[in-house]
Amino acid sequence: MQRARIDEKSKAAFEKARQVIPGGVNSPVRAYKSVGLTPVFVDRAAGSRIYDIDGNSFIDYICSWGPLILGHAHPQVIEAIKAAAERGTSFGAPTELEVRMAELVAERMPSVDIVRMVNSGTEATMSALRLARGYTGRDKILKFEGSYHGHGDSLLIKAGSGVATLGLPDSPGVPKSVAANTIAVPYNDLEAAKLAFAQFGSEIAAVIVEPIAGNMGVVPPAPGFLEGLRELTETNGSLLIFDEVMTGFRVGYHSAQGLYGVTPDITCMGKVIGGGLPVGAYGGKREIVERMAPSGPIYQAGTLSGNPLAMTAGYTTLSLLTPEVYAELDRKAARLEAGFTENAARLGAPVTINRVGSMVCPFFTREPVVNFETARTSDLELFRRYFAAMLDLGVSLAPSQFEGMFVSTAHTDEDIEETIEAQGKALERALG
Ligand code: PMP
Repeated sequence: MQRARIDEKSKAAFEKARQVIPGGVNSPVRAYKSVGLTPVFVDRAAGSRIYDIDGNSFIDYICSWGPLILGHAHPQVIEAIKAAAERGTSFGAPTELEVRMAELVAERMPSVDIVRMVNSGTEATMSALRLARGYTGRDKILKFEGSYHGHGDSLLIKAGSGVATLGLPDSPGVPKSVAANTIAVPYNDLEAAKLAFAQFGSEIAAVIVEPIAGNMGVVPPAPGFLEGLRELTETNGSLLIFDEVMTGFRVGYHSAQGLYGVTPDITCMGKVIGGGLPVGAYGGKREIVERMAPSGPIYQAGTLSGNPLAMTAGYTTLSLLTPEVYAELDRKAARLEAGFTENAARLGAPVTINRVGSMVCPFFTREPVVNFETARTSDLELFRRYFAAMLDLGVSLAPSQFEGMFVSTAHTDEDIEETIEAQGKALERALG
């Protein structure tokens, strides 16, 4: 194991950054504000490791917040991007690669007949909402507390991820009239969703749900929850939107919808689908998604949508993901979970671990974590001390209790064992 983290250069870089970038970062959680540390300024990364400008190296479980399922700078992905760049970086005109990409997504994602590429998960969910509203002629949206669906106005209500980390439940700048059309109920609470439908059923355009919540830590769907939402939306003439930006191509060959056997009307994608470049996508049933322009009247567009470099990174990444790869990821993540559980038991630490496939999340609570309320029973002070100790021991985690760990194919068995050993030490220090 390496010596404790040195952060002189990161400190200086952060100081400079704050003069010219709000909070010094281009996405809030990166500032490490809630853990009270200096963010790691990255120099480069390869495989399971990131290297910072101070010369530290870390086993990385942020993996760019999910996209890097093959680890950093995967040689085949990098080669493909280089070759694509030689042929031109952007055309604003259709390419055959976009067609192959759409075919591949339609083949893997059970709900998708046709799909439109965008540039981020936020764009995917914003577009999916517009589609649902345009298709149904209704305005209201039902979402779940502690879920994060990007920073679109309609969805920045009782959100998870950075919004939860920074304790900003409702953002200034979202018009009241927009917020009034968003209903939020607790995750995994089908009865609450039914009550919302009893009151507003004929006005609800869509239910948007993370089929595995990944922005309040990791919270799997309770048995019957997704099935219940499917039935509820069908009965009421609303659409069911799965936000698989995080879970898509991450938790299995057919994503979360394949894992649970529930087929939504619209699916939002992001992260893994771009293989580390900026990509989002939304797709679904032909008769619904064809209502988008130019085949239909609902408008959405993008200068860089379907960008050849991004499509190349995504297509290459998806091509390397076979069912066997998912089985291997599951095996490694299961070992991580088991090792963490043993450490916690040995030390008598209040730890509850949730895991689905390669998404793993230890909470510092003895309560089962089934929604945002129970996620918030986690001892955040203990998390802070644990996070700092892990960083000192050479393991980079998301600087928030409300994010999971992502295991990639680049994490070796040795990395996993080293992480388990570090976790034991970090827990011991945190419990101090
Ligand atoms: N939906 C989910 C489920 C997400 O996890 C995220 C990002 N963490 C988004 C949407 C937004 O994606 P992006 O950051 O690419 O806009």
